Amino acid sequence: EKSGIVILGIFAADTAYQAKRLPHIGETLMGSGFTLGPGGKGSNQAIAAAKAGGKVTFISRVGNDPFGAMALSAYAEAGVKANVMKMDGVSSGAAFIFVDEVSGDNAIIVAPGAAGLIGIEDVDANRAEIESAAIFMTQLEQPLEAAIHGLSIAKRAGATTIFNPAPARTIPDSIYALCDFIVPNEVEAAELVGHAIETDEQAGAAARTLVDRGARAVIITLGARGAYYHAGGQSEFVPAFRAGNVVDTTGAGDAFLGGFATAISEGYAPIEAIRFGCATAAIAVTRPGTAPAMPSRSEIDALLRSS
Ligand code: ATP
Repeated sequence: EKSGIVILGIFAADTAYQAKRLPHIGETLMGSGFTLGPGGKGSNQAIAAAKAGGKVTFISRVGNDPFGAMALSAYAEAGVKANVMKMDGVSSGAAFIFVDEVSGDNAIIVAPGAAGLIGIEDVDANRAEIESAAIFMTQLEQPLEAAIHGLSIAKRAGATTIFNPAPARTIPDSIYALCDFIVPNEVEAAELVGHAIETDEQAGAAARTLVDRGARAVIITLGARGAYYHAGGQSEFVPAFRAGNVVDTTGAGDAFLGGFATAISEGYAPIEAIRFGCATAAIAVTRPGTAPAMPSRSEIDALLRSS
């Protein structure tokens, strides 16, 4: 009997600096704020899924440094099983995030460090766990060949595969047949299909294109509007929830995916799992930060009951 969720992805410590503007080369600028927290799409998704009640294993790499220690303590706290290689001589992943103190807009540099060295050997080392999992989920922040290898092993073993093609980039067509669910946001979907996604018609056309390429089901997340589902010739729009004042939408996609994966692992039908993911994200956006903003199962269930 298959059970649990295995997630492959990167950890990066999010170091966010608030200032009036970006400094010029050679200039030093005084900022107005700083926050530090665990980040990386795969890492955020693992924490979101575990807090939502999923049984989660996270495959990654970190450095033998304070950021790596921060990652491991975040996994311990959230109840994520960390199959995370601790490497000497290379730093943990880290993200420099400039936040415009007036507009809230950001500019980001991600240095993946140890997580950039993830390869097919990390997947092979976890083969038995992937083969016994109900769900395998990955993204595109670590090298592409590792994602493809993980999806292939999971698919062959009969696990349900969830692929979040983020950040946006082009991918080989062979990957689609490995996806039970491919879950891009609007920007990533536009990159995959080569046209803008600004209307419902365009979202529908993009979803049909991805199914034609071989994906079993497509979910395009549409920010504050919700999510668009397409599979087997059927389409459905699932509206977003409102759980309070929106303070920080960073990591909304990761919250959605973590909640969605947990619900699918428990046997929810796709539309119900999308509602569960939307509820998870709706709560996360009412709180600052990414991983620390992920809600508990009781909070998600309460929002679903009240809506
Ligand atoms: P990010 O890059 O900010 O982590 P994303 O672009 O990957 O997010 P989005 O499509 O913005 O992902 O959001 C994912 C899901 O989160 C949406 O489908 C929706 O359910 C929920 N969501 C996003 N923004 C809001 C919001 N302002 N209010 C309620 N729910 C939201």
